[in-house]
Amino acid sequence: ASSVEIRKVDKFYGPFQALKQVSVSVPPGKVTCLIGPSGSGKSTLLRCINFLEEYDAGEIRIDGRLIGYESPGGKRMGSGKLRDMRRRIGMVFQQFNLWPHMTALQNVAEGLVQVRGFSKAEAGARAAEALRKVGLADKMTSHPGRLSGGQQQRVAIARAIAMEPKLMLFDEPTSALDPELVGEVLNVMKQLAAEGMTMVVVTHEMGFAAHVGDQVAFMEAGELVAVDTPAAIFHDP
Ligand code: ADP
Ligand code: ADP
Repeated sequence: ASSVEIRKVDKFYGPFQALKQVSVSVPPGKVTCLIGPSGSGKSTLLRCINFLEEYDAGEIRIDGRLIGYESPGGKRMGSGKLRDMRRRIGMVFQQFNLWPHMTALQNVAEGLVQVRGFSKAEAGARAAEALRKVGLADKMTSHPGRLSGGQQQRVAIARAIAMEPKLMLFDEPTSALDPELVGEVLNVMKQLAAEGMTMVVVTHEMGFAAHVGDQVAFMEAGELVAVDTPAAIFHDP
């Protein structure tokens, strides 16, 4: 399981500062929940971790290795090196981003062939295993259009875990779901946490943050205003 070290990160969108001197340590094998009002910079910070978003100052290190730049404040990392660093980072978005013309199995297997270079047979076997893990053994040949939102999101999680990530990033993974489908996705995430996956989760699900989070980071207007145990963050004074 990977660790992430975020130190004094700034991020600007033009003149607007979306992240202000953000520092937080994400320990290996633990769940870090990012909470805070809409627009406070949670998604931006998450996207900086895998360099989907460039940060302007500070350092983000994954297992001690700087991501995105050759050195702090230096030139951008080459695309090959960046791809190499991203290989073991899984990401799950609010929107499931599945290919509608492919079955659940094909959706999961595709990356294993394209990115990891497995044979079709090996990719299929690994994809099936990942889908079993998220409770979708009986939906392998279904297309996304025939699946519920919760099932589609579980396919998206299976697609990520099939790549054997050492770090999983979740950006409001249950926000697009009908309330009755939220639990099945949270339970899969809880199972991953129990297996010792390092996870950073942007979420509005305070029950999940309180009960599954090892630490909770609270953001406000681009600043990380508190990082502590759920008990300390949610404690009513
Ligand atoms: P959160 O995830 O907490 O809702 P975001 O990280 O999405 O917040 O956004 C933080 C702030 O940065 C918001 O004010 C948002 O409008 C702004 N922002 C996000 N993405 C962009 C962008 N691509 N261009 C300009 N401003 C952006
Ligand atoms: P709901 O709002 O549906 O009651 P919560 O937001 O309280 O759910 O909880 C969300 C998720 O957090 C649950 O699906 C479960 O995985 C986990 N969770 C909630 N309460 C507990 C608890 N007491 N112990 C362990 N996990 C819990």
